[in-house]
Amino acid sequence: MTRDEKIAKAKRLRELGLSYEEVGRRLGVTGGCVQKWLKPEAAKRWAANDRTPERNARKRAWENDHDRPLCACGNRMGVGAHRKGYFRCKECRRAADAERTAIRGREIVAMWAAGMTMREIQARYGWTKGHLAQQLHRLRAKGFDLPKRPPGGLRLQHAQQAQHNQDQDHEQEDEQDLRHRDHAEAVGNLEKGL
Ligand SMILES: [Zn+2]
Repeated sequence: MTRDEKIAKAKRLRELGLSYEEVGRRLGVTGGCVQKWLKPEAAKRWAANDRTPERNARKRAWENDHDRPLCACGNRMGVGAHRKGYFRCKECRRAADAERTAIRGREIVAMWAAGMTMREIQARYGWTKGHLAQQLHRLRAKGFDLPKRPPGGLRLQHAQQAQHNQDQDHEQEDEQDLRHRDHAEAVGNLEKGL
């Protein structure tokens, strides 16, 4: 039966003299629900009356007494927080988050200082590159020592360093070549008796 069919049936049952409660019982709803079906305009007024400051205050008082479990710290949890699966008050959750961030931050600072690449750190936590970048940004804002790396990251820096070393090696080789040549020349000159 659709809602409209139920309403039509309720109307007929009421005309036969059944009470709202009796009609509701036959349709599997409460008597109040039947009243709302049959008097939609009145139902709107009832709902509006339900939202008065007095009612809200009563509701709040009831919730304070019945719907706010204690946190281990002694504070009461927020209304309905336990239904969201929380078992600590908001302050305790914040403190736990801050603690976790601090521990994680120190780990990342250590890995960063040890020269681990983004890719290696991501893999450690099972994060995406974007998530790690975001975490680095947030940790820096909180004062964690995570110096910016050059564009291209450590890999490029390593490559540049290797290139630089190679260049230096080449320079050294060139110098050695020069010395060899000078030496050879000197020896040659000696032999020529100059
Ligand atoms: Zn707490």
